[in-house]
Amino acid sequence: MAGSELIGKEEAKEVMDILETGIFMRYGFDEERKGVFKVKEFEKAFADYLGIGYTLGVTSGSAALKVALTAMDVGPGDEVIAPAFDFIATYEAILEVGAIPVMGDIDDSLNLDPDDIESKITPATKCVIPVHMCGAAARIDKIIEVAKKHNLLVLEDNAQACGGSYKGKKLGTLGDMAILSFDYYKTMTTGEGGMVLTNSKGLYERSDWYHDHGHDHNPNVGRGDEGRSFLGFNFRMNEFQGAVGLAQLRKLDYIIAEQRKNKAAIKDALGAVEGIGFRKLFDPDGDSATFLGFNLPDEKTTKRFQKLLAGKGVGTIYYRDNTWHYAPRWEHLIARATANSKKFPFTNPMYKGKVEYRVENIPHAEEIMSRTLFMIIPVRMSEEKMNETVAAIREAAKEL
Ligand SMILES: *Cc1c(COP(=O)(O)O)cnc(C)c1O
Repeated sequence: MAGSELIGKEEAKEVMDILETGIFMRYGFDEERKGVFKVKEFEKAFADYLGIGYTLGVTSGSAALKVALTAMDVGPGDEVIAPAFDFIATYEAILEVGAIPVMGDIDDSLNLDPDDIESKITPATKCVIPVHMCGAAARIDKIIEVAKKHNLLVLEDNAQACGGSYKGKKLGTLGDMAILSFDYYKTMTTGEGGMVLTNSKGLYERSDWYHDHGHDHNPNVGRGDEGRSFLGFNFRMNEFQGAVGLAQLRKLDYIIAEQRKNKAAIKDALGAVEGIGFRKLFDPDGDSATFLGFNLPDEKTTKRFQKLLAGKGVGTIYYRDNTWHYAPRWEHLIARATANSKKFPFTNPMYKGKVEYRVENIPHAEEIMSRTLFMIIPVRMSEEKMNETVAAIREAAKEL
């Protein structure tokens, strides 16, 4: 649960600054706010941390996906490739902008497989969304290479590997655009919140305008007199989120360092289990270590091991049966059940493609997810708890 484990006086101090001025909105009230701009400060601090040109705070990671897709002009008639192992928000955001999500297969890193992308490209494909699932990077260099070759945009969904990197470069800085999530489960949290990242001034401006009703945020005029060039919506981050985010960001490197220590110790204990394999990390040094993924030779053994571990108080996640993270389990997506009775955008006449959500299209995902388990790695783990966990794993291994 990462950042949420560490809420303390640092967050309280940042929030108090806003309560003292009473200005909860990020824009306007220049006199009353007495120089306090928490969201702006948070954006600047994140840009410095990542070494990226532009950052925009928004209400959630899901909103960030919608804002980024909109900024890139992905919309009706377009297809977007996203991995079959993913949180459902990515698919929802694609549908929100009127485009159609296409299920991509995963490789042994359990992230989008660059070698599978070409088989999913159609004349409608406009964008690909690699998702750095469960703390670790997709082969983003290869994915960008394939995307470039076919003139596709790349949106990195880095909701789950905040602070992680790939071959020395921070995740979220490599695609045309990227997003972060700060919901309560994520590596660092603002309760709810998200961020849009890009090095493109043009894409940043479109994001900035869209997320606040089209406002161009001209610094020389009052809010009521600002210009606009297209219609937008409201995905503004508020000052409470910015304040908590500032305190959490200062803890991010500590969070990752502690998780790495805890993960190494647990991985060591699991290493003794017969037949065990670990999730392939193409850059282990960049792993944010929020999760430990491991696999056993087959589905039956995997499920038995999960039960044995559970009996000894060690929880694991079997994502293949999970209803929120594995596309073949999304019966409402497969039924094209969007929230409008007309099933838009699937029924949009501008869409000339013919998407199919069939497991036959993702053979490797079906195989590897059927024998993979994940453990959540805490930031704080007492020596006693660690010893108990290691002992429980050893016991379960003996009974396997
Ligand atoms: C959490 C998550 C999101 C959405 O973020 P919210 O802030 O919860 O809206 C998007 N993509 C992935 C991969 C996620 O895990």
